Parts: sequence; structure tokens; C-alpha cells
Amino acid sequence: MARLYGSRKRILITGGAGFLGSHLTDRLLDLGHEVICVDNLFTGTKRNIDHLHRHPRYEFMRHDVCFPLYVEVDEIYNLACPASPIHYQHDPVQTTKTSVHGAINMLGLAKRLKCKILQASTSEVYGDPAIHPQPEDYWGNVNPIGLRSCYDEGKRCAETLFFDYHRQHNLKIKVMRIFNTYGPRMHPNDGRVVSNFIMQALTGEPLTIYGEGKQTRSFCYVDDLVEGMIRLMDSEDSVTGPINVGNPDEFTIKELCELVLTHTGSASKVIYLPLPDDDPKQRKPDSKLALSLLNWSPSVELAAGLVRTIEYFRWVQANA
Ligand code: NAD
Ligand code: UDP
Ligand code: UDP
Repeated sequence: MARLYGSRKRILITGGAGFLGSHLTDRLLDLGHEVICVDNLFTGTKRNIDHLHRHPRYEFMRHDVCFPLYVEVDEIYNLACPASPIHYQHDPVQTTKTSVHGAINMLGLAKRLKCKILQASTSEVYGDPAIHPQPEDYWGNVNPIGLRSCYDEGKRCAETLFFDYHRQHNLKIKVMRIFNTYGPRMHPNDGRVVSNFIMQALTGEPLTIYGEGKQTRSFCYVDDLVEGMIRLMDSEDSVTGPINVGNPDEFTIKELCELVLTHTGSASKVIYLPLPDDDPKQRKPDSKLALSLLNWSPSVELAAGLVRTIEYFRWVQANA
């Protein structure tokens, strides 16, 4: 039952000061809902939510999801978790705690409130995939003890918890496997390939390709991703996921590097550095389920999305 009048809902977003969470907030406020953002500002920044503080339907709470949380809401989007390799490897124990304890607390909250809860899972649950593209019924190829494991296994355990709360307590769950997403408000120093290449190009530093640059990723623009996330939350209760949401256009890292150089007009050099451990060789979503169940497919091409992202990073530079 809605806690507010009409179709307006009060919605909790954990990790709401981060890259994806702040865009999701903007969209939900535009749709007329109330948003409570819970974030410990580990990787999120006040800059991402500065424009929201005076908004009458927005509230920020500084809180760590590893600890219990008592609020009254209609829906929960659970996004709290550092997402880039350098951030999640900075304090790997805390990363696993955030995924696992955070999931338990948010599921406990959803159970008490009998409300829907969406988990921001990841294509990393497929690890270094042996099947290409990756369909949702592929169980993955994940190293349980490597440098990426704190994130990958934490997210896998969170998925397990979501499905056990669903089976055991009849909870309404939505598990979304997000593939590489980029756009304005990415952290300029998060070490992810899109932010690294753009910042390097804008500052005239060499662009750093790890390995030979033949590894692939499929990059989804943030607006498309947020649309998929809201459609999943609003889908029939029978749609639990897991469901892949990502752009199936696949690029090598070398191709991405060339695109960034072209669209920034930068004269930066390109250098080759060693490939990090367990770096997946290829990644591309099988997105048939998202199309059939959510009628969702991405609309922003990589070049167009990069132009908007480059514009944002220029603004960050000018306002640093
Ligand atoms: P982000 O780092 O910008 O946002 C994560 C937010 O969670 C930050 O604001 C951070 O401060 C907050 N946070 C971290 N630990 C917390 C804790 N213990 N308690 C409260 N808040 C905490 O990352 P993002 O790219 O916006 O990712 C959001 C979610 O989507 C993450 O769960 C991530 O795993 C998932 N995801 C993102 C991508 C992507 O390409 N961006 C891909 C797959 C999955
Ligand atoms: N929890 C919370 N907010 C709530 C309800 C529960 O943070 O409104 C936390 C609570 O601290 C508990 C966790 O969610 O540790 C799991 O709750 P659940 O009811 O599943 O388990 P139990 O309380 O029986 O351990
Ligand atoms: N990468 C790169 N140069 C960089 C940063 C990343 O070549 O400066 C590579 C990285 O090795 C990986 C790909 O780009 O193969 C995507 O990396 P990112 O950290 O963005 O995401 P993930 O590996 O989690 O998909």
C-alpha cells in the first residue's frame, strides 16, 4: 500500500549519491515521487546531489548500509557498493560487508515493510565468462580468492540472499545485472576505463591501455540504464530477474581509446601497461530477456554518449 496519496511513492535509494544513484534520483523526482537517499559518501560525492538539497521531495541521510536502517518507504533500490576496481579493492573486506550485510539489512527492511526491492547486481557475477554473449542462465566463471572476488562474490552472495528471501519470505524482488555503464557524474578518479581515458585525453596525459587492448566491453549510457532499472522495478511481480541490462554493442578497449581521442581532439599518446589479474577478456550482455520482459533496449550509441560524457568532464575540470 502506498504511504503517500495518489500514485506518488516514497522511494529509498541506497548509494543515491553515487553515479547511477544520482541519475536514478533525478528521474524518480521528475516522475513525481519522494526520494530518500542513503549513502555513506565513500565513493559518492556531494557534488552529485548538490542540485537536490532544496528539492521538497528529496531527503539525504548519511548512513552505512552495513548497519540496520529503520525508515518507512514503498520501494527500495539497493545500489550502495563501490563499483570500480580501484574503489572496491581499496578496502576489500568492507566491500564484501557492504554487499552482504547491506543486502541483509535492506532485505530485512523490505520484509518488515512488505515492499519491493531491487538489487543492483553486476555482469561481474559472470567473472571471466566462458560463454559469449552472457545469458542470465550462465552460472559464470569467477575466481573466489582473487583481487576482484570481494566484489564479484559479494554480489553473488547478495543475489543468493535476494532469492532466499523471495523463496522463504515471499518477498517481491528484482535482480538486475548491470553491464559497464558510463556517463556524466562518473567519478573522475575511479580508474574505470571511460573516465580514465577521457581525463587522460583532456589533460594531455598518455592514454593507458592495459594489455594489448583486445579485451572487449559493451558500454551502456547512463540514461538508458536508468530507464531499464525503473522498468524492471515497475514490472509484474512475477518478473524477479536476474535480468541483464546493458548495451550489446561490443568494443575492444583499443577501439574505445581511438573514439575518445577523436571526440576530445586530444594529441595524447597511447601507452600499454600490464593487464590486471583476472581481467575479463570479453563481456557483452545477451539482452533478449530485457527486450521481451521489459520492452527495453538501449538507444544511445557509444559515440553520442561519449560526447556528452566528455562535456561533463570538461565542466568538472573547469570547476575544480
Ligand atoms: P558509485 O561508486 O558511484 O556509487 C555507489 C554509491 O554507494 C556511492 O555513492 C557510495 O558512497 C555508496 N556506498 C558505498 N558503500 C556504502 C555503504 N556501506 N553504505 C552506504 N553507501 C555506500 O558506483 P555506481 O557506478 O553508481 O554503482 C552503483 C551500483 O551499481 C553499485 O552497486 C554497483 O555495483 C552497480 N553496478 C554499476 C556498474 C557501472 O558500470 N556503473 C556496473 C555494474 C553494477
Ligand atoms: N532490519 C533493518 N530494518 C528493518 C528491519 C530489519 O535494518 O526495518 C535489519 C535487521 O537489523 C536484521 C536484518 O535487517 O539484522 C535482517 O532482518 P530479518 O527480519 O530478515 O532477520 P532477523 O531480524 O530475524 O535477523
Ligand atoms: N582498462 C584500460 N585502461 C584503463 C582502465 C581500464 O585498458 O586506464 C581496461 C581494463 O583492464 C578492462 C577494461 O578496460 O579490461 C574495463 O575496465 P573497467 O575498470 O572500466 O571495468 P571492468 O573491468 O570492471 O569491466
